[in-house]
Amino acid sequence: MKVNHHALELEQNYLFSEVARRIRTFQAENPGRELLKLSIGDVTRPLSPIITEEMKAAAEEMAHAETFHGYGAEQGEAFLREAIAGYYQQRGMDIAAEDVFVSDGAKCDLGNLCDLFDSDNTVLLPNPVYPVYYDTSIMAGRRVIFADGTKENGFLPMPDASIQADLIYLCSPNNPTGAVYNKAQLAEWIAYAQAQGALILFDAAYEAYIRDPALPHSIFEIPGAETCAIEINSLSKTAGFTGVRCGWTVVPRTLQFDGASLHDMWFRRMATKYNGTSYIIQCAAAKVFTPEGLHAVRQDIHYYMENARIIKEALNRAGIHSVGGENAPYVWMQCPEQADSWAYFDHLLHAFGIAGTPGAGFGTAGQGWLRFSSFGTRETVEKAAAYLERL
Ligand code: PLP
Repeated sequence: MKVNHHALELEQNYLFSEVARRIRTFQAENPGRELLKLSIGDVTRPLSPIITEEMKAAAEEMAHAETFHGYGAEQGEAFLREAIAGYYQQRGMDIAAEDVFVSDGAKCDLGNLCDLFDSDNTVLLPNPVYPVYYDTSIMAGRRVIFADGTKENGFLPMPDASIQADLIYLCSPNNPTGAVYNKAQLAEWIAYAQAQGALILFDAAYEAYIRDPALPHSIFEIPGAETCAIEINSLSKTAGFTGVRCGWTVVPRTLQFDGASLHDMWFRRMATKYNGTSYIIQCAAAKVFTPEGLHAVRQDIHYYMENARIIKEALNRAGIHSVGGENAPYVWMQCPEQADSWAYFDHLLHAFGIAGTPGAGFGTAGQGWLRFSSFGTRETVEKAAAYLERL
């Protein structure tokens, strides 16, 4: 038996384990000192009762022969796919329920989509980046190249026509930088992908955090995307579903690559290796897209975005440059005096008990930067902001 040697090429998931290790050491050495955790990448607010009541009602259906559900529809229940398509249609996009595939989350989809592409493809990733794009590409044996985010380009790298790529990952709003592409910038990426014959994998997991009405929530707001893009999304950050698990992909039937329909290939892949998201969860997910569901989840998003505003304002008062935080739940701060990400992480932890996430852990272009998440409680954020504004 031979193992997948590409899986052995993965580096240890150093970032989050190392952050956790340093926090543990700090706490052991400083018993009783308060830890202000701005490193949380998970939501903290509970689900709205509107959603949990729907789950309970769906669970009750399972208890009766007349309403019991076994295996579900292969692509996801029609009522949920229609609700998701309706969410896009409200923004003027022509997305059909037939092009929506329901899953158990965006991370799983990002990994599973790798089944559709040959290992002999060059993957272009933004740097810094959500580590899953890199790790899944390495496991699949693909070449990976980077487009660097910098202070000058606002951490929104743009395509370079002289660089050849086959698969392009874009994440907007971005994790970790909180930067968001505008429509003209996405149009440039689409033109580049079309010229290269490349496919864009667009991760819109944080789209619900966009405040500026001019910014695009989906790649499908840009003409031409239906010929070169797949969108990945989830309710994890939109509706607090990180522990519930429900996501989706939009794979238009118009996508043709190498003589094949990616829509048909994805259908076949999902039908072969996935047996559907729980009916109970799909009912809860559909509730999110109702007017009262959207109203409820937007309250929580507003809470987190107020946290982001408080963090960003504190940094502004201290004269520290940052990106993000206005249309994303992440604030990406430049470490003062060109400090190293890890050194500055240690400084904030030991001086004030504030834990961020070192930017260098998201890629070489993150060196000298630190990520703050707005998913903590208001109390924590306000205490941390009082220190940050005096940096
Ligand atoms: N995409 C990005 C950019 C993320 O930051 C995350 C989670 O942190 C995910 C996808 C994963 O989402 P899910 O919980 O749906 O797997």
